[in-house]
Amino acid sequence: MFISKNAETSIKHQLLVSPEMPELPELEVIANRLAERLTGCEIQNVEVHDHIVIHGKTAGEFEEGSIGETFHSFRPDGKFIIMEMDEHDLVVNPMLTGRFRLLDKHRTPTKTDMFSIRTEKGTLWYYDRKRMGRAYLVLKGDYSDVAGFSGRGPSALDPSLTLEIFKERIRRHRGQIKNVLRNQRFVKGIGNAYADEILLYAGILPFRRRSTLSDEETVKLYKAMRTVLSRVLEIISHRDLNEFGTEKRDFLMVHNRGGGMCPLCGGRVSEITANRFKTNYCQTCQK
Ligand SMILES: [Zn+2]
Repeated sequence: MFISKNAETSIKHQLLVSPEMPELPELEVIANRLAERLTGCEIQNVEVHDHIVIHGKTAGEFEEGSIGETFHSFRPDGKFIIMEMDEHDLVVNPMLTGRFRLLDKHRTPTKTDMFSIRTEKGTLWYYDRKRMGRAYLVLKGDYSDVAGFSGRGPSALDPSLTLEIFKERIRRHRGQIKNVLRNQRFVKGIGNAYADEILLYAGILPFRRRSTLSDEETVKLYKAMRTVLSRVLEIISHRDLNEFGTEKRDFLMVHNRGGGMCPLCGGRVSEITANRFKTNYCQTCQK
């Protein structure tokens, strides 16, 4: 069969796209989908299929602690999802490849299924190809055992994070601006992909030192952070949970678009990989 050169490149490109962490917009939508379906549902059964993702408890404690409780709310918190129940909260950090799926009928677990939670409105499956995610069953509101939870800044979309507070917070952080944006202690919810998107929109090169940013650039950065994250949230807000994945970020402007065309100037998107993290930027639009 004849495959055109372009089609071939595009197939190869799709295969090479490595999994990336869900960030604030994705976690917000995941929490909304779970809430729509499971709020008010009693947990009939919990089964741990692979204990490697369960932290702070044995698989048995994890199961017994949640069976019989009712789901009250689902909310994103930075890169975590918090599921509030009666006495306990279930906190999940999906890391790179942790994903959720809601199925009407129970089925046999596959080898990527880590745990499943059965309710009268279907079963919630948490699956994780790389088994890197972390799940904690904690006493209500006690997140002291959750790794990387305490000491984080406000959410990047928190309405109380005003420009003044943003400016005040950013002064405390040094180093390259992309790393500052990704630092959850500065603001929470931004990872590798949206940091690139925000910096393109702000017109700032990712390698610039935070200390070299002018006051005007800091304002641009704040506005870009809000605009990019809200826009992504709007685009993905109606997506179905089972069709969800960071691999389906077909709306990105610059991230994962190395060699492609910058949507702002029509120039070529540059790419650099360091510590397994890919950074994409536009040499024309970003200074
Ligand atoms: Zn450009």
